[in-house]
Amino acid sequence: MHCPFCKAEETKVIDSRLVSEGDQIRRRRECLSCKERFTTFEVAELLMPRVVKQDGSREPFNEDKMRAGFTRALEKRPVSVEKVELAINQIKHQLQASGEREVPALEVGEMVMSKLRSLDEVAYVRFASVYRRFKDLEEFREEIDRLKSDQL
Ligand SMILES: [Zn+2]
Repeated sequence: MHCPFCKAEETKVIDSRLVSEGDQIRRRRECLSCKERFTTFEVAELLMPRVVKQDGSREPFNEDKMRAGFTRALEKRPVSVEKVELAINQIKHQLQASGEREVPALEVGEMVMSKLRSLDEVAYVRFASVYRRFKDLEEFREEIDRLKSDQL
């Protein structure tokens, strides 16, 4: 986003909010060069941040993947589809309103975890145990990589 005053490329988002029923996002930005502030209206749909995986690769945010995670954790639990959809929408809004262009996969996992915690205790524990194992696995992999590079 170029600064309209001095054309510098680096601007900082200082406030973000969704407007017109979430279709648009209104941002206050500040230019890092001239310190001028300005407001932009952007199409919210384009602003879903990319997800940064542990290995550093990026992928588009995948709503179906998130829904699958909820469904797996909530299998045979007394939670309605409507509640799950509401939770997914809330996470999407949170991600869009953050103004970030990229978000770590682990952070998305934590958002899912906190929603599950308020939806259903059992589902939360299920998800958390898988999630922690995944985290441990990632740490294990990093450790292996470090050992490998030490040997070179
Ligand atoms: Zn400027």
